[in-house]
Formats: sequence, structure tokens, C-alpha cells
Amino acid sequence: MTTYAQPGSDGSVVSYASRYDHWIGGEFVPPAKGQYFENPSPVTGQAFTEIARGTADDVERALDAAHGAAEAWGRTSVAERANILNRIADRMEANLEKLAVAESWENGKPVRETMAADIPLAIDHFRYFAGAIRAQEGSLGEIDDDTVAYHFHEPLGVVAQIIPWNFPILMAVWKLAPALAAGNAVVLKPAEQTPASIHLLMSLIADLLPPGVVNIVNGFGFEAGKPLASSARVAKVAFTGETTTGRLIMQYASENIKPVTLELGGKSPNIFFDDVSSATDDFFDKALEGFTMFALNQGEVCTCPSRALIQQGHYSDFLAAAVKRTEAVVQGNPLDTNTMVGAQASNDQLEKILSYLEIGRQEGAKLLTGGARAELGGDLAGGYYVQPTIFEGSNSMRIFQEEIFGPVVSVASFNDFADGIKIANDTLYGLGAGVWTRDINTAYRAGRAIQAGRVWTNSYHLYPAHAAFGGYKQSGIGRENHKMMLDHYQQTKNLLISY
Ligand code: NAD
Repeated sequence: MTTYAQPGSDGSVVSYASRYDHWIGGEFVPPAKGQYFENPSPVTGQAFTEIARGTADDVERALDAAHGAAEAWGRTSVAERANILNRIADRMEANLEKLAVAESWENGKPVRETMAADIPLAIDHFRYFAGAIRAQEGSLGEIDDDTVAYHFHEPLGVVAQIIPWNFPILMAVWKLAPALAAGNAVVLKPAEQTPASIHLLMSLIADLLPPGVVNIVNGFGFEAGKPLASSARVAKVAFTGETTTGRLIMQYASENIKPVTLELGGKSPNIFFDDVSSATDDFFDKALEGFTMFALNQGEVCTCPSRALIQQGHYSDFLAAAVKRTEAVVQGNPLDTNTMVGAQASNDQLEKILSYLEIGRQEGAKLLTGGARAELGGDLAGGYYVQPTIFEGSNSMRIFQEEIFGPVVSVASFNDFADGIKIANDTLYGLGAGVWTRDINTAYRAGRAIQAGRVWTNSYHLYPAHAAFGGYKQSGIGRENHKMMLDHYQQTKNLLISY
């Protein structure tokens, strides 16, 4: 086991500036109103840097810089942009450890995950979209007797991107990579809880991008996010966050008829059919591991499998084994490489989860394990830790219907295939789902019947760059990842020439 030193202490691979201004036009720019706010690490609860508090004036300055850079950036050759994206990926790879530790420190997630998943996935996204934009080249047009139809892909111009705190670097890269590949300039607002690791990333890659192509305005939703999403000077708003915020984003963007991509909340079912328990083999073991995925990233994942639906025939035995497996999950210092569950990202999030633990009890759900704040000693005493928690109840309860965004799973049983699918689809959301079965017919039928944009079968929480990701119902509009994402960041120009 390795324990990484806390940023700011001797031997740390990460050193933060004491203050982060906005990143505008390729340089740090102080906030117009001169105000800053503190950024605490969830690992200890202690502030480690302060952040510029953005307002509409800062957004305007960032839009000026983006508009100043957009035309020239949009005219660069596809080969040149792809080359830059690949060089960004190389630079990130060379700094993987630094980015992984920074991401853990600022968000509270275990460094074993940021090292093995978050940062490598972000790197691969740049490489994937560098390849995808090259592959788009070369389709010229269709010719008939007297007319030729050319199709051109043009960048949208300047796009707004607003992201949450649960995967700070990965969420930024999911948005930046396709937008930049397509030739757009960007103004991005990180979540107020986790802006520092994005600035760390920008400082590592700043020399690879022309000034003004990527601009970061820090700040709170209503102060910095709203003027950005409402601006007539952006060609598109790409947003990831809560469904309630997504509704507001749509309203803001509608004033200027701007397209939106919305990646919103979820309440994903994880369905375990009877045949999972027909043998206690590797497959059974993998399914138990799949059950514990509700605690991955402390449950702060939009696709968190927060409803486990277990078929009646093996319900008691499977659940008993799942509780045991959950209790063996190692919780602790996110900077330890053997930690599997770290800290919640903020004190507000901690309070929200604790309130849902109380709601679950009041609704009469049966608490099977966890159910409280995890009290870790020493340096971590002020951090935001919650025990992985399992409730047993029924799908009409609030803990089954509302997004808790913590390491909490609500378990219910179902009778047969139709009953399982009915319960799985009985939700406002439709982002992710898991299906566990040894039978390919059941897997296929369930995958088609579940109303969700992503259905994992006999796995969970894999996010390859080439797999389209997005929500049905109130989980969002549009898709991210996959080369189809380029369409969301391009205009198609058709030129019909008759001769
Ligand atoms: P949030 O909606 O509170 O905030 C997201 C971002 O929007 C932040 O940058 C915030 O400052 C900004 N914002 C808030 N109010 C705004 C407003 N009025 N105008 C403009 N911007 C505003 O979400 P969060 O708490 O940061 O993130 C958690 C949520 O994100 C969960 O619901 C989760 O499911 C969702 N999420 C979805 C996906 C996905 O791909 N579908 C991925 C990650 C997270």
C-alpha cells in the first residue's frame, strides 16, 4: 500500500497555488468584483486554496476571449487539431500521478480509481476524438447529372460548458475533447466545489492551445453559470448536473434558441435474476462485486446502481452475501492506494446523504448495514465520510425514487421478468441500468425492455470513449462520448452546385 502525501505537505506530487483566478485568454484574470471563496478538501475538511468568484462581467470577458480565438481555431486543419489533442493526451499521461492525486484530494475519491480509471479515461477521450475527427475527413459529396451536393462540417463557434463536481477532470474532458476536435472555442464553468484540479490540468496543457480557445470561469451556479447559459453569444450549452438545474438551463438557453445537451440525474436499477445464484462460482462472485458498485465513487455517480432488484428465488441468500461483501469494502483515506470508498465531495453533500438515511428510517425501510457517518480519526476526523449503506424496502419509497448521490442502495425483490422490468422502469429517470444473468435471452430481452440510455450486462460502471452515453426520460437530452458526439458540436453546411 502507498499513502500519497497530502498536497501542501512535504513529499506531495501536487502543489496548488494559494489562489486560482479565472483562466481567460491564456492567462489568469482576477474576478471583476474582486471576490474569492475557499475550497476545502473533503479528505480533511480543511481549505487548501481560494477560488475567484465569477460574475456576469467575468463571463463576458471570457466570451470576448473565446470569440477572439474561435475563428482562427475553427480554421485550423483537422490534422492540426487532432495533433494538439494527442499532445494534450501525452502531456496528461506524463503527469498521470499528479492529476490522479489532485483529483482525489479535491473530490475525496480513492486514488486507486483516479489512477486506474478517471485520468486514463480522460486521456483516452482526447485520443479517441483526435481519431474520430480525422475519420470524418474525406467524404466529399454526391453527384447526379447536373448537380453536386457537398456537405461540410463547420464548428458551432463559441460553446458554453457547465460541469458538476463528481468527476471534475473527466467531466471537463468529456466536454472539451469533442468540442475542441470539432473546432470550437469554449467557456467552461467548473463546479464551485472542484475547480482546482481543472486549473491544474490547464496549467499543464496551456502551451499546447492557442490563447482563448479554452477559458475557465469559476464560481457559483446563479452568479457565473446562469449568465453563461443565458448568453446570446454562445452557440450551444452543454450541461451536466442535477435534473432540477437542467430544467433551468433549458429555460435560459431557450431565450436565444440555443441547442442544449443535458446529462442529468439517475436512479439506476441493478437487476439480479435467479440464475445468478445457480452456482457459487466466478460469475456469482462478479455479480456480488457488481452489487457493491453502488459505493463506487462514494455513490456520487449519475449512474449509481442505487436500486438493487433481486429475484425472489435467490433473494435472501444473495442479499445476505451482498451485505457481507459490502461490509468488506475498505473505507478510509482516499490517498491510500488500498482505499475503496473515500469521502463525499462536500459538507453539503454529506448533510444531504445523512438526511436521506433519516428519511429511509422514517419511511420504514429496514437498515441492513451502515446508516451513519463514518468516523475516521486523526487528520481525517473533519472529512466527509459516510458508511456504505443498504436499505431494504419498496420502490414507492423516497429512497427508491430520489437521487441520494451517496453510498446508499435500496433493495427490493421481484417475482418474474415482467415484474422486474416494471419496477426497474418505475422511475422518472432513465440513465443507466445493470442486468445480471447467465442466460443470453434474458439479458437481451431485459436490455431492450429497460428504459435507459446505457444497460450494462454482467458488468457495471465501464465508460469507454466509443460507447454512447446519455439519458432517457428526465435523465437528459442528447448523448456524450462516441463519435456521434461530434454532431453535437458541428453545423452541417450543404452546398448544392448545379452546372
Ligand atoms: P448541479 O446541477 O448542482 O451543478 C452542476 C453545475 O451547474 C455546477 O457547475 C453548478 O455551479 C452549475 N449550476 C447550478 N445552478 C445553476 C444555474 N442556475 N445556472 C447555471 N449553472 C448552474 O449538480 P451537481 O450537484 O454539481 O452534480 C450532481 C448531479 O450531476 C447529479 O444529479 C448527477 O446525477 C448529475 N450528473 C450527471 C451525469 C450524466 O452524465 N448524466 C454525470 C455526472 C453527474
